[in-house]
Amino acid sequence: MLDLETSFGDLRDSILVTDPNRVIVFANKAMENLLRLKRAELVGSKTRRFFAKQSQYDDIGKLYSKSSDQERHKACPIELVLGDGTIKSVEVVSAPLYDTSQVLTGFLFIARDLSDRIALENKLSDIALTLEDALDAVSDGFALYDKEDRLVICNDNYREIYAHSAPAIFPGNRFEDILRFGLNRQQYDTGELSEEEWLGQRLEWHRQADGSVIEQNLQDGRWLRITETRTGSGAIAGIRVDITELKNAQAQAETAYKNLFLMADSISACVTEVDLSGTCVYANKTACEWFRGTSEELIGTRLRERLPWKEREIIRTVFQEARSGRKAVLETCFHFPDGIARECRVDCNPRFNDRGEVDGFVVLGTDVTDRKKTERTLSELYAITSTRELGHEDKIREILRLGCEHFDLSFGIISHVFEDNYTITHAHSPNGELVPGTGFPLMDTYCALTLDADEPIATTDAANSNFAQHPCYEIFALESYIGAPLLVDGARHGTINFTDPNARKRDFTPADIQIVRQFADWVGHEIARQRDHQALMDAKINLEKVANIDDLTQVLNRRAFFEAASKEVQRFRRTKQPFTAVMMDLDKFKDINDMYGHAVGDEVLKLFASTVKNALRAVDVFGRIGGEEFCMILSDTSVDDAMIACERLRERVVRDCQVDVVERTITCSMGLATAGRDDIEFSGLMQKADAALYEAKASGRNKCVPYSEAPLEQAPAYGTEP
Ligand code: GH3
Ligand code: MG
Ligand code: MG
Repeated sequence: MLDLETSFGDLRDSILVTDPNRVIVFANKAMENLLRLKRAELVGSKTRRFFAKQSQYDDIGKLYSKSSDQERHKACPIELVLGDGTIKSVEVVSAPLYDTSQVLTGFLFIARDLSDRIALENKLSDIALTLEDALDAVSDGFALYDKEDRLVICNDNYREIYAHSAPAIFPGNRFEDILRFGLNRQQYDTGELSEEEWLGQRLEWHRQADGSVIEQNLQDGRWLRITETRTGSGAIAGIRVDITELKNAQAQAETAYKNLFLMADSISACVTEVDLSGTCVYANKTACEWFRGTSEELIGTRLRERLPWKEREIIRTVFQEARSGRKAVLETCFHFPDGIARECRVDCNPRFNDRGEVDGFVVLGTDVTDRKKTERTLSELYAITSTRELGHEDKIREILRLGCEHFDLSFGIISHVFEDNYTITHAHSPNGELVPGTGFPLMDTYCALTLDADEPIATTDAANSNFAQHPCYEIFALESYIGAPLLVDGARHGTINFTDPNARKRDFTPADIQIVRQFADWVGHEIARQRDHQALMDAKINLEKVANIDDLTQVLNRRAFFEAASKEVQRFRRTKQPFTAVMMDLDKFKDINDMYGHAVGDEVLKLFASTVKNALRAVDVFGRIGGEEFCMILSDTSVDDAMIACERLRERVVRDCQVDVVERTITCSMGLATAGRDDIEFSGLMQKADAALYEAKASGRNKCVPYSEAPLEQAPAYGTEP
C-alpha cells in the first residue's frame, strides 16, 4: 500500500486501485476530491456503487477479457454517482495489475474529469446548432462541400430546392453523386446539352468555385442563381437563390419590351428617340422607310441632317423648345430621303433621366398629308358645288380636275353605262386624250368591276390585284384606279373614275374612298338636277312655243310678232339701220272659203305661211296678225331692197302656194313701209304699211306697193273696198 501511496498519492490524475474482484484497495487524493468521499469510505467498497449505468460497469469489465493491451487500455467515458449523489462524466482508462509471478492482483483506474471538455463540446455543439439554425433561417440554399467534395453541411432550403435529389443529400456524399442522382430523377433542365455534357460543365464550374454567378434551370421551370466560393481550407461553399420570379419578371419585361418595339414598328407614324445632341438611338420601321436606311444605319447618326436645311432648322427649334421639359408640337411639310414630301405633325416629347433632367427626346412624326389633303379637297368640292359662277358642265369638269389633283392621277372620267356599253361623257386628261362620246364595251373597262362591287374600289398596283385577272388590265394597263358607281335618282347611271398608267406611290386611304364616294354622290345629284333642269327648260320652251306660235300656221302669233317688232324698233333706235314692215293679205280669200270650204281655206293659210317663212332670212320676223293677214319685218332693209324682196316673194307665192282643188291662182297683196327718222313707234309704221296694202288691193291686187305720203290722204278707210 505504501508503494501505491508513493506512486500515485499526489498525482493530478485521479487514481483508484481494486483487487481482482473490483473492491477498492486504494484511492489517491485527487480521486477523493473527484468522488467527494474520504479514502476511508472508499476502501473496502466495490467500484460498482459509483457507476450511474450498469452497462458501463459491465463494459469496462469486458475490456479485461480483450487480448491486446491497446484494447484493454481503451478510454471509456462513464457517468459516476458521486458521494453527494450528483452525477459526473469522466473518462476512465483502466489496466490490470499483476504480481511478479504474473498473477492478477487487481486493477488500476485512472479517471479524468470530462466536465470541462464536455462543457466545451456542449458549447461547440450549441454553436453548431445555432449555425444550422441560422443557415435554415436563410431563404437561400446553402451547402458546404469539403476538399474531397463531400457534403459537410447544408440547410433545409438546399434540400427543398433540390427536392428530387434530397435522398442523396446527406453529409459525406460526393457532390458529383448528388448531381448524378438528381439527373436521374429529372431534377435539372439540361437544355440543349446531353446529361453528360451538362454534368461536365456543372462540375467544371463547381471546381472553379471562383465566386462567379451561374444560372441553373430546373426541370419544373424554376431558375436558381448559384454562387460557389472556395474557402481557405479548400472547401466549397455554395449559395443557391431561387430567381424564378425574377426570371419571370425579366421575361415579362423582355416580352413587354419586345411588344413595345413590335407596336412601335407596326404603327404608321415615324418614331425615333434621340439624345440631346440629336443623335438617333432608336428608329422604328416607319422611320427606317422615311429616312431610307436600316435601323443600324440610322442609329448613331443625326436624322435631321438627312432633311433639307430649312426643315433641319425647324426640327432644331422644336428640340430647343422641348429641352425646357415641355412637349413641343409642330405641323409642316418635310421632304424625306425616300423622295416623298409629307405634311407631318411632329410631337417632340422630352425624355428625363433619374435626376429629372431632360436627356433626350422621343420624336413622333405623324403623316397628316392625307388628312390635310382631304380637308382641302372637301372644302374645294364644297366651293365648286356651291358656286353660282359655274354651270353644270363646268362644275363637273372642275370636279374631275379636283379628283385628278387629289388622287394624284392623270385621268378623270365620268361614264354613262347603258346596257353593255360604256360611254365617256366627261373627261379630264393631261393633253385632252380622252374624248367625250368615246365608247367601249362595258366588259372591257375597269368600271365593270366597280359596278359589280356596287361600291367604290381602288388599286395602286393593278398588276398585283384582282384587276390583273380582268380583260380591262390587258386592254388599258392602268396600274392605278379608283372609281365609284354613279347613281342618278337611285338608278345606275355609270361611274366616276380616276386612273393612271403608273402605280401610285402612296396607297389609297379610307378617306380617299370616302372622297370618291362623295364625288360620285355629288355628280349623281348634279346629273339628276341637270336632268330636272332640262325637263323644266323643255317644258318652258314648249310653253313659250304655245304662247308665241300660231297653232294653224306655226309662225309667230300676233302677240309674239309685236314683241319681236318692238325689239326691232329698239335696235333701230340704237343703230338707225333702216328696216321695212310689210303687211300681207291674201287676195279674195273669202271666195276660197266659200267655194271650197273652211278646211281648204286653212290649208291655203298653212301653205302660204310656210312658203313665206321658207323664203325669209333668219333675221327677218314673220307672223300671223289676223285671219288671213300676215306681217313681216325685213331687218336692215331699205325700201328699194324690200321692194325687190317682196316682189320675189309675191312671185314665189304665185308659183309655190297653190292647192290642187283651188282652180284659180292664189295670190297676195303687200304694203311696205320703211322706218324713217321719225318712225319710232311701230304702230305708226303699221298704219303706213296698211295704207300701202290698201293701195295694192285698190290697184288690182297681187301687187307690192310701198307707202307714199300723197295717196294716203285720199285713200278710203281700210277694209271698205268692195
Ligand atoms: P280681199 O282681196 O279684198 O282681201 O278679199 P277677201 O275675200 O280676202 O276679203 P277679206 O280680207 O275681207 O276676207 C277675209 C276672210 O278670211 C274672211 C274670213 O272668212 C276668212 N278668214 C279669216 N280667218 C280665217 C281662218 O282662220 N280660216 C279660214 N278658212 N278663213 C278665214
Ligand atoms: Mg283680209
Ligand atoms: Mg283678203
